[in-house]
Amino acid sequence: MASIKVLPENLISQIAAGEVVERPSSVIKELVENSIDAGATHIMIEVEQGGSKLIMVRDDGSGMDDEDAKMAFARHATSKISSLDDLDRIASFGFRGEALAAIASVSFVTLKTRLSQNENGVEIVCNGGSFKSQGPCAAMPGTEIVVRSLFFNTPARKKFLKAENTELAHVVATVSHIALAYPELGFELKHNGKTVLSVPKNQKAEDRVRDILGKSFGEDMVPVLFETPSIKIHGFVGRPGAALSSKHHQYLFVNGRDVGDPVVSRAVCDGYGSRLPARCFPLYLLHVDIDPTEVDVNVHPRKMSVKFLDTQRVYRDVRQAIEQALDLHQQKLFVGISQSPTLSTPQSTQEGMDFSTPTKNPEGLVRPTDAAPVPPTFHLISQVADSYLLIMEESGLAIVDQHAAHERIMYEKFKRQAEQKEVTKQQLLVPLSLECSREELLFLEKALPFLEKLGFEFEAWSGGTFVMQACPTGLDTENLKVIFKNVMQQVMQEGGSEAMPERVLKSLACKAAVKFGMKLSLPEQQKLLDELTLTPNNATCPHGRPTKVLVSFEELERRFYRRK
Ligand code: ADP
Ligand code: MG
Repeated sequence: MASIKVLPENLISQIAAGEVVERPSSVIKELVENSIDAGATHIMIEVEQGGSKLIMVRDDGSGMDDEDAKMAFARHATSKISSLDDLDRIASFGFRGEALAAIASVSFVTLKTRLSQNENGVEIVCNGGSFKSQGPCAAMPGTEIVVRSLFFNTPARKKFLKAENTELAHVVATVSHIALAYPELGFELKHNGKTVLSVPKNQKAEDRVRDILGKSFGEDMVPVLFETPSIKIHGFVGRPGAALSSKHHQYLFVNGRDVGDPVVSRAVCDGYGSRLPARCFPLYLLHVDIDPTEVDVNVHPRKMSVKFLDTQRVYRDVRQAIEQALDLHQQKLFVGISQSPTLSTPQSTQEGMDFSTPTKNPEGLVRPTDAAPVPPTFHLISQVADSYLLIMEESGLAIVDQHAAHERIMYEKFKRQAEQKEVTKQQLLVPLSLECSREELLFLEKALPFLEKLGFEFEAWSGGTFVMQACPTGLDTENLKVIFKNVMQQVMQEGGSEAMPERVLKSLACKAAVKFGMKLSLPEQQKLLDELTLTPNNATCPHGRPTKVLVSFEELERRFYRRK
């Protein structure tokens, strides 16, 4: 006896619902996306009991005529594509024509819709996937869909719904993400009759970010804009100092679609490079707009990821976009500093020296702008615990970690030398012979061009012996063997990968920097601070730790109960 049967249409829809409709927030995502596809400018969302009792989405979009309104509930019925070719260049959210059918199969749905040129609208009622009634109704132009008692006929699914507040949190997150992607559209979300979120249409992107994510988030943002004929990357990334220990605030929209993408998030992190503290994740809100033929959107049931045709190119472009944005931000900071009013410092310090005059630019330091920036004046107070430099700034007392600060200075110095081929090297009086294993030799040969750019000079002798004739200036020649061992460790760990030069630079910078716990003379302390002022990315060390902590006078007044 044959045991294979074709399943009834309604059961097929319920199975599909298992993929599309996970919880109330996924219903809202589908309905709101339909509204956007219909050209809506304002979308109203109402939810009761976290969405399990009721979800209502109303828009001022195109609306539907009687025939389309009924067809909308049929499986695989869509107005958005009609051929296989269309699937390659989807510009709308929807294209499978299964969301409404899936939602209707697991709830009670009432749809009211009206074309603007018609006087009346049409109302359709559907219970658990079965058509109940259709008739004329009064309605505003646009569409309103009410979904009641979600999963009433699929108890197994219903069981997985969480507490009201948890479902509400998902709903708020979903609406927030969409609202962030579309600052030109207005949104309102109500829960149990109370407004939870409300943003007007035609907002500027940064105002939308502030309204949805809060004022402080807005202040931490650096704008991104990168455009080539084939890709546009725009939005915001967080200042390096604003990085978080979770990926919570990472928003990516590919052609307006809210997705997660490991390639883009890798590229963003790599764009920060050494500006990002270890184990921290940058904040970002990025749009990647790309030709629809360059991206496959049909790879996830809830359309939460996409696949790029040329991932390498997307990686490169995003990384470059972030690097450029952060460089520009850094430059602005420099210009800002140089223009700030100078601090009136006492004529002499404890030690009888005056540091208020602008110091000369230390030799060989990068200047991010063409005009030499005037370093801000500060008042060096003292070295503390052989590890920190205590300074007075305009707004408070600052404490500099001497190792972290010098590490950044040396890192940028080495990096610039390698990039601009302005090597300054020191010849070794006594060449250093280094015996290498076979494996080490193999890696060393790969890394040789980069090491030479940095200022190392080697001569290969027979039997696996290399002799170092010169090294970059700034390295402690007494400790060269250890330093070189460390460099080799990085080279071996990274193999021939792209990250190798970065790792070597960090390791060299660390070894070349003054130690924590090292006594510095007053001129040495001053030189370090002067150099730091002129060094790019000077807020953190190459591993992302801060170089300086500022205790503002305001903070001090609060601590002494002089202000609230
Ligand atoms: P898809 O969005 O993949 O086409 P759906 O099941 O979500 O599939 O919707 C089916 C069709 O119903 C859409 O193609 C569209 O023509 C119509 N539709 C759904 N929601 C709306 C709406 N809010 N306004 C206008 N038309 C809509
Ligand atoms: Mg849809």
